[in-house]
Amino acid sequence: MTQLVARHEAEHYVINGEKAAWISNGSIATHALCSVTIEPSKRMSARGLAVVPLNAAGVSRSEPLNKLGQRALNQGGISFEQVRIPSSLMLRGGGYEPDLDWIFSFLNSATAAVLTGLTRAAFEEALTYSKQRVQGGKAISQHQLVQRHLFDMFTKVEACRALSRATLLYERASVGVPSLEHSIAAKTFCAQAALEVANEAMQVFGGYGISTGQLSEKLFRDARVALVEHGIKDVLSLVGARRILQR
Ligand SMILES: Cc1cc2nc3c(=O)[nH]c(=O)nc-3n(C[C@H](O)[C@H](O)[C@H](O)COP(=O)(O)OP(=O)(O)OC[C@H]3O[C@@H](n4cnc5c(N)ncnc54)[C@H](O)[C@@H]3O)c2cc1C
Repeated sequence: MTQLVARHEAEHYVINGEKAAWISNGSIATHALCSVTIEPSKRMSARGLAVVPLNAAGVSRSEPLNKLGQRALNQGGISFEQVRIPSSLMLRGGGYEPDLDWIFSFLNSATAAVLTGLTRAAFEEALTYSKQRVQGGKAISQHQLVQRHLFDMFTKVEACRALSRATLLYERASVGVPSLEHSIAAKTFCAQAALEVANEAMQVFGGYGISTGQLSEKLFRDARVALVEHGIKDVLSLVGARRILQR
């Protein structure tokens, strides 16, 4: 059952409950698309999607969360107490498992693409720095061990690129059936690769890498948050495994 319950009353729905503190843009959004339970006795099979204007009476919001990384992405909780919306704003009244698949699939595919960008940025920053920083009489890029790190990073960037792009192509090609398993594979792989490459980039930056206020620090913090964002790998993998076993 979802945390929000919507009761049908004549031409309205009345919504009560609370959403987790982690809603992206929760403290700043003007409208929310809320998954609600319409008939609690039917649990997950009687859900709906409600469009709720967040200036409606009975809506309250928490302060934004103070996260380690992705700090520019607002996260906050929203509570609903006797919030009335017209029936026309309830998108569906029945089960909507396929809609959820589309949402999760798009979310994971898009996140994989963003994380590919993060991975690439970490690699390119390290590559540029390695050509400028001189140690032992030459640019550190001329030391073979640094070259090996750079090549590992390059490999991971290209693997992220290939997987995240392939997933988006599967999304476009699939009519009616989103490729949830591919999108989860891409998101979990790219999140792990992003953290590894951001970590390696910090190492190439040496003392600068572990200093606060550097780009490499931000990329590392952002990548770390991605391991939790939109689901933790262990849990997402179970969903992906279920899908491949159904084939
Ligand atoms: C940047 C960011 C944006 C987010 N945006 C949103 C958003 O817009 N909307 C929203 O609703 N949420 C959002 N979240 C929340 C996010 O989806 C959750 O934090 C994430 O799914 C993990 O859930 P949890 O925090 O409840 O951890 P828990 O589920 O409590 O997990 C804690 C630990 O237990 C393990 N665990 C849990 N269940 C199992 C299991 N069945 N088997 C094995 N191990 C298990 C996990 O792997 C983890 O290590 C966001 C999070 C972040 C970081």
